[in-house]
Amino acid sequence: MIHMNNVTKVYPNGSTGVENINLHINKGEFVFIVGSSGSGKSTLMKLLLKELDPTEGDIIINKVKTNELNRRQIPYLRRNLGVVFQDFRLLPNKTVYENVAFAMRVIEAPGRIIRRNVPAVLSLVGLGQKGRSYPNQLSGGEQQMLAMGRALMSKPRIILMDEPSMGLSPIFVNEIFDIIKEVSESGTTVLLVEQNAKKALSIADRAYVLETGSITLEGKADDLLHDESVQKAYLGE
Ligand code: ADP
Ligand code: MG
Repeated sequence: MIHMNNVTKVYPNGSTGVENINLHINKGEFVFIVGSSGSGKSTLMKLLLKELDPTEGDIIINKVKTNELNRRQIPYLRRNLGVVFQDFRLLPNKTVYENVAFAMRVIEAPGRIIRRNVPAVLSLVGLGQKGRSYPNQLSGGEQQMLAMGRALMSKPRIILMDEPSMGLSPIFVNEIFDIIKEVSESGTTVLLVEQNAKKALSIADRAYVLETGSITLEGKADDLLHDESVQKAYLGE
């Protein structure tokens, strides 16, 4: 479903975002990438979304080589991708309901489908009573749940999450991970990046370790959970 072949991103100022990444994710797989701050997690996500172009290497999503897509074709790529970002990227002047509905309007879903699905998604993410609120009237955790709801709304084949539990209280972290698990079990391909590894390694299928832009370790999530170097660096053990 997702392939990165020898992908390197060097930013215009000369700093390296990621270097020689080889990453392969199968359909329906739940893959977790752990890396500390500055290791290249967000760069990797932006490359997959084609917000950034690689300096070298190929990226293939759903059998499409995204290097070769032009501006007009990018929306088709993104239709298959649900995204949850560190900075939420909510629409401040739209209600909670509209923020979620918007994800379906842009893919031109019929109104009756939108009216049926929005309440279901809002209740899934625990915002059933908040449809009329605006994003700035929500707590950080609720905003993240809203971002999650929006990403799930269009039933994407792939969901990308960049540190969705960042800055959240433990209750929301648990809730976010429960939803991620549910989404993954429904057959959606999931790529999650996080600094906080314990929870993610216990529910993912496979994991990669990213250090200063390069992948240094790959394996079954359960094996990495018991790897001494991973425990030391990322599990606080
Ligand atoms: P992470 O998300 O893991 O914290 P990033 O992908 O944001 O890491 O950053 C990886 C490296 O790329 C860092 O050294 C960072 O300083 C650099 N970097 C990220 N964005 C830019 C940018 N827009 N311009 C220049 N360097 C950047
Ligand atoms: Mg980041």
